[in-house]
Amino acid sequence: MRLIFEQIRTGGDRNFGYLVGDRESGQAVLVDPSYSPAVLVERATSQGLTVSHIINTHGHADHTEGNATAVGLTGAAVAAHVDAPDRPDVTLADGDELAVGALRLRCLHTPGHCVDHLVLYEPSYHLLVTGDLLFVGKVGGTQTDSDARTEWVSLQRLLDTIPDETTVWPGHDYGARPSSTVGLERHTNPFLECGDVDAFLQLRGDWSSYKLRMGLK
Ligand SMILES: [Zn+2]
Repeated sequence: MRLIFEQIRTGGDRNFGYLVGDRESGQAVLVDPSYSPAVLVERATSQGLTVSHIINTHGHADHTEGNATAVGLTGAAVAAHVDAPDRPDVTLADGDELAVGALRLRCLHTPGHCVDHLVLYEPSYHLLVTGDLLFVGKVGGTQTDSDARTEWVSLQRLLDTIPDETTVWPGHDYGARPSSTVGLERHTNPFLECGDVDAFLQLRGDWSSYKLRMGLK
């Protein structure tokens, strides 16, 4: 088994961090080490992996908090979108690919929740690390109507380009399950079932009463 992929609870507001590694090459990256950088680093080193990059899905503090500690422990480079609030060592743009041994993490720029948001797609194992764009049964918060419209476009792009069998690995454990698939979210996530952007905006506005009505947490 070549792939190492671990979803790790990092504290905060039910945050998830990820270890992605290639056992044969001994290479790995950490995604959003957050409040538990030492735990993620330990999972890498105990499996003989060298951490080359610490990738942030976006620049919010609950995802980047552990960067400095993780860098101190590994010497890895921080990689994030070019518009990230703290200038990263390695800047990532839409369409860039970051190699983890034989694995390829393809970066999709998916703004809305914030301007620098990235989703990471590993096509050979059908993995999608969705950060705060897409949660299980929910989507990322936005500040304005304009940001919500931008987020809608980012979500539609995922639905149009990523195969249904792809697994979804979110930045927070906000759903009934810790992970999902693109197909399952397409057919069960109320925000993705919206027929158009106006319905999407309306659901955002009605979300509290919708949750109550549906018995959601
Ligand atoms: Zn966020």
